[in-house]
Amino acid sequence: LDTNSSAAMYTPVALAEIRGSRMPKRALVTGGSGGIGAAICKKLAADGLQVIIHTHRNPEKAQALADSIIAAGGDAAVLAFDVTDAQATAAALRDELEAGPIQVLVNNAGIHDDAVFPALSARQWQGVIDVSLNGFFHVTQAVLMPMIRTRWGRIINITSVAALTGNRGQVNYSAAKGALHAATRSLALEVASRGITVNAVAPGIIATEMSANAFPIDAIAQMVPMKRAGRPEEVADLVGFLASEQAAYISGQIISINGAMA
Ligand code: NDP
Repeated sequence: LDTNSSAAMYTPVALAEIRGSRMPKRALVTGGSGGIGAAICKKLAADGLQVIIHTHRNPEKAQALADSIIAAGGDAAVLAFDVTDAQATAAALRDELEAGPIQVLVNNAGIHDDAVFPALSARQWQGVIDVSLNGFFHVTQAVLMPMIRTRWGRIINITSVAALTGNRGQVNYSAAKGALHAATRSLALEVASRGITVNAVAPGIIATEMSANAFPIDAIAQMVPMKRAGRPEEVADLVGFLASEQAAYISGQIISINGAMA
């Protein structure tokens, strides 16, 4: 094992050394270029993880985030692929995993495309399911076996209060996120004996570009008992805890962060 070379440190033959070692763990945050994703990337980097910032269409934005994390003394790199494309996802992650296992996976990439149900097109239905649910499948399947071999892992799926309460105009979105809740519980059972936890974090209204388009300020005051949107950093702190050693006995849970909405 050549400890002077970061690439050599993470070759597959070095997995035994990674288990239980103090080497920095690697984290992949899908949609890391977005509002909540960027806050999660910063938090995990501040906690000492090597962060892979995933993006689909915004490599410059993701690289600017990586640069700011590195300038603050953290470790970050950018990886771009479309989570709805099974082959592209598998190829990108195959290359990435050659450098070593990913032990923290945050499935955060998501879109909404709202319409009341009679007006909801097949394209809108499929598009939202493709990113949130099929994206979870494509990414998690690629990452899971190397993670299992290390006997330590954290999988955190970012879902939504809409999956718990429902939301008018979001049948597609709440169906995708609700399916992720069910997948979270089942996968948690499958990997519990391997030192891997699987949880979902279900945010309410969080102040990002996505929610700014969907919820005007007066609507937020009516919908949220705390009368404000959450901050991406508040979600990131919860994710950071779930990714930590201290959260080892929390698995299969749907954890809400929503200002008492539900
Ligand atoms: P943003 O729109 O800011 O970010 C969404 C991210 O998803 C972007 O980084 C985007 O990548 C990525 N993404 C979209 N489509 C694809 C794709 N096909 N392949 C790969 N990546 C893709 O959203 P938020 O930060 O607000 O939301 C993050 C998560 O939190 C989502 O899952 C959302 O559903 C959930 N959530 C958000 C809430 C809110 O109020 N903001 C409330 C509840 C849940 P890129 O732009 O780089 O192409």
